[in-house]
Amino acid sequence: MIYFSTHKSSIPVSLKKATLEGLAPDGGLYVPSEIPHFSPEEITMLEGASFNNIALAIAKKFIGNDIPPDQLSDMIDNCYNFETPLVQLNNNTFIEELFCGPTLAFKDYGARFLARLTGFFAAEENKQITVLVATSGDTGSAVAYGFQGIANTRVVLLYPSGKVSHLQEQQLTTAGNNVHALEVQGDFDDCQRMVKEAFVDPTLHKSLTLTSANSINISRLIPQSFYYAWASMQLKENYGCNKSLFCVPSGNYGNLTAGVLAKRMGFPISHFIAASNANDSVTRYIDDGRYEPRPTITTLSTAMDVGNPSNFARLRYLYHNDHNAMGNDISGISISDEETTATIKAVYERFNYIMEPHTAVAFRALERYRSTADHDNAPGIVLSTAHPVKFREAIEETLNKKIEIPVQLHEMMEKKKCASLIRADYKELASFLNGLDQ
Ligand SMILES: *Cc1c(COP(=O)(O)O)cnc(C)c1O
Repeated sequence: MIYFSTHKSSIPVSLKKATLEGLAPDGGLYVPSEIPHFSPEEITMLEGASFNNIALAIAKKFIGNDIPPDQLSDMIDNCYNFETPLVQLNNNTFIEELFCGPTLAFKDYGARFLARLTGFFAAEENKQITVLVATSGDTGSAVAYGFQGIANTRVVLLYPSGKVSHLQEQQLTTAGNNVHALEVQGDFDDCQRMVKEAFVDPTLHKSLTLTSANSINISRLIPQSFYYAWASMQLKENYGCNKSLFCVPSGNYGNLTAGVLAKRMGFPISHFIAASNANDSVTRYIDDGRYEPRPTITTLSTAMDVGNPSNFARLRYLYHNDHNAMGNDISGISISDEETTATIKAVYERFNYIMEPHTAVAFRALERYRSTADHDNAPGIVLSTAHPVKFREAIEETLNKKIEIPVQLHEMMEKKKCASLIRADYKELASFLNGLDQ
C-alpha cells in the first residue's frame, strides 16, 4: 500500500515514510492510495473473531508486506492488552468504552500502535527517533505511555507548568525510561512555539531525527478504525443488527475519519453523528457546505475545543470535497455546556451510569438525532472517549458524588514525578535536546 498527500503535490510514499514523517512535505496529510475492502464473505468470516484478530485483519490490508504478519500480530497483542467493553444502556443504545487502556482515554488506541510502528521502522533504518510533542494533557500522556520502553524511540514532551491537573501531570511525568518530561514555565502556546522552532532548526537536524506524534500521523489513524469494526461486528453477531449507527464526540475529527475508513472497508455501519460542543466549524459545514473555522471556545469538553480541526482535510478528501456526499454519511450536531451537564445528571438518574463530558456530548447528540422523524430506532453506539476519573472535579460537582480512582491508576499516582523545569525559551529546549545521548 502506498500513501498520498491530501494536497497531491508530493510524491506517494511507503507507510514507513508516512509514519516517520507525519506530515507530507507539501503540508498535506497522508491518506491511503486506496481504501482496502472486505467482501461480504470476508466480513462473515470475521464473525466471532476477537478484537485483536479483527485488528490484525485490517492492519494486514493497510500494511501489506511492510511488516511480517507474525510480528504484526505480536505488535497488536502488545498494543491491545486491555478490554474494549460494549455496555448496553437500553434496547437500542450501547456505549463503547474506549477508556480501559493505560491512560484511560481512547488516544491509547492510536498512540500505542503508532509507537510500535515507529519503533519497527526506526530499527529497520537503524535510527533512533526522537518524538517531540507539546501537550496540554491527554495526547501527551497517551504518547508517553505508548512509547514507554519501545526500542529505537524516545519521547520529549513539553507541558505548561501548573496548567495540567495532578492526574495528568502524574501521567506525563512517570513513564520514565525513554520518556523525558519538560515542565515549561509558560503556557501551552509557549510549548507549541518551542516545538515548532525545534522542527525548523537546521543545527538540530544534523544530530537528531525528530518526528511529531499528533493526530495527523496516518499510523495513529488506521488503528482507530479497529474499534468501529469490532463494535459493528458485535452488534451484528449478538443483536442481529446489520447496520450500526455511531455517535462520535469530535474535536480534531481523527476519530470520525477512522470511522469513515471502517465503513468504506465494508463493515456493517449505516451512519455517523459527528457530535461537537460549541466549536462547531465542521457541523456547520455539513449543514451548508461552507467551511468557516472560528477561534476556539472553551467548554466543559476541553479535548474537543478545536476551532480549526486538523483532520478535516482528510475527511474532505475522502468525500472528494462534496459536502452533500459527506452529509449522506454524517449528521453534525452541536451540544451546549448546559445540555452536557444536564445529560450527565439525566444519564446517571436513568441508568445509574457515570458519563464524562465528552461522552455526554455524544449521548445527547444521539438523543437529538433520534427525536427527528424517520430515524428513531436505529441501534446506536456512543463512543466513550475518556474515563470519568479524568474529569473528576466537574463530575463530582455535577453529581454530588465521589468518583473512585480505578486500580490501574493507583500505581501511577504513587510514582515519583520526574520532570526537568525549563524556561519558555527555545534555547533551553535546544540545549536539552543536544544533551541527549546520540
Ligand atoms: C482527543 C479527544 C476527543 C476528540 O477526538 P478527535 O479525534 O480529535 O476528534 C474526544 N474526547 C476525548 C476525551 C479526547 O481526548
